[in-house]
Amino acid sequence: MQYASFLIKYTEIAIKGKNRYLFEDALVARIRGALKKVDGTFIVSKNQGRIYVDTEGAYDFDETVEALKCVFGISGICPVVRTEDEGFEKLKEDVIRYIENVYPEADQTFKVHARRARKNYPMESMELNRELGGAILDRFPNMKVDVHDPQILLTVEIREHIYIYSKVIPGPGGMPVGTNGKAMLLLSGGIDSPVAGYMISKRGVKIDAVYFHAPPYTSERAKQKVVDLAGKIAKYAGTIYLHVINFTDIQLYIYEKCPHDELTIIMRRYMMKIAEQIAKETECLGLITGESIGQVASQTMQSLSVTNEVCTLPVYRPLIGFDKQEIVTISEQIDTYETSILPFEDCCTIFVAKHPVTKPNLKVIKRHERNLEEKIDELFEKAIETKELIIVE
Ligand code: ATP
Ligand code: MG
Repeated sequence: MQYASFLIKYTEIAIKGKNRYLFEDALVARIRGALKKVDGTFIVSKNQGRIYVDTEGAYDFDETVEALKCVFGISGICPVVRTEDEGFEKLKEDVIRYIENVYPEADQTFKVHARRARKNYPMESMELNRELGGAILDRFPNMKVDVHDPQILLTVEIREHIYIYSKVIPGPGGMPVGTNGKAMLLLSGGIDSPVAGYMISKRGVKIDAVYFHAPPYTSERAKQKVVDLAGKIAKYAGTIYLHVINFTDIQLYIYEKCPHDELTIIMRRYMMKIAEQIAKETECLGLITGESIGQVASQTMQSLSVTNEVCTLPVYRPLIGFDKQEIVTISEQIDTYETSILPFEDCCTIFVAKHPVTKPNLKVIKRHERNLEEKIDELFEKAIETKELIIVE
């Protein structure tokens, strides 16, 4: 079947009242952006509360659908057969041919739903429903009408062209990226943080990212893995500015000056501080992490509270109540899992103590952080000054 158009369904953004057009315009822009990477000519238009993608000439159907499936804000993608208005007899033939091609078994229940968006069409919707339904029953004896719960809801829209569709391919849902500000993702090479970034981006938030790299303890390959993960999220989130921080000196300094069982928690406080500073410089409105309560020692309620204490921006932790398996399931869906499990070292695990504190006390932690007074400000500034920016498309 040759589908010349797609009807784009969107639910959540349809209820945004006065701001509705902003969301629709953003969605149209995101769809155009996504289709730029697909071979073919696509015309994306917004008309009477509907968004259509019309194609011109040859294009790859699967690639197009794959691209649309990555656009947040789309709830459904309907492949549409587009025909011209050449009289009702021709329309009947087109509808019959549609059923033959799309439902060759022709034994389902159905309902015709005609919409006359162009009011000068000579027949009314009810009449169209009746006549087209009758034509289908005549041609396919095993099909039956069910107006309440049909297996096939066949929509026929009369516009400048005529659109025939019945299938809906699920979209990713959410809101168009860019309609909800920007946030800074702490992106490691693990399973959790890419999923966290995906989830916040799905709410319409643009994402920048920061990665703490500790050469030579973490290799170039570990860094490349993070760049690759950013690329996978960028498929949904759009271009990501990835800031790579050289964290080695700070880590070594903490290792030298602080009790080793508190190393992870103190290190995490510095990660958050640095991330927050870059976030503020780049107009991000919050931080995002892949933390989940109780997953590891640094994610107990006490640890999270001690880590959080250094932040003034809100910290979004979309995975906070998720089990590992639930996170893995999403990472498989968004295709980050295979990359995340590649066995390259993580800067947090290199210096990790055998028995890290699980119930850190803020006062004690702060007291031990005073051991860092001499050099930490200088190292902090240097880490920010020497950061590397990688733009991931
Ligand atoms: P992940 O799978 O996301 O690495 P994790 O279960 O390994 O998470 P931690 O290592 O405790 O958990 O990290 C908790 C969160 O801190 C991560 O989800 C991520 O947001 C951030 N984080 C950890 N290490 C780094 C790093 N090297 N660079 C940037 N962010 C990091
Ligand atoms: Mg990790």
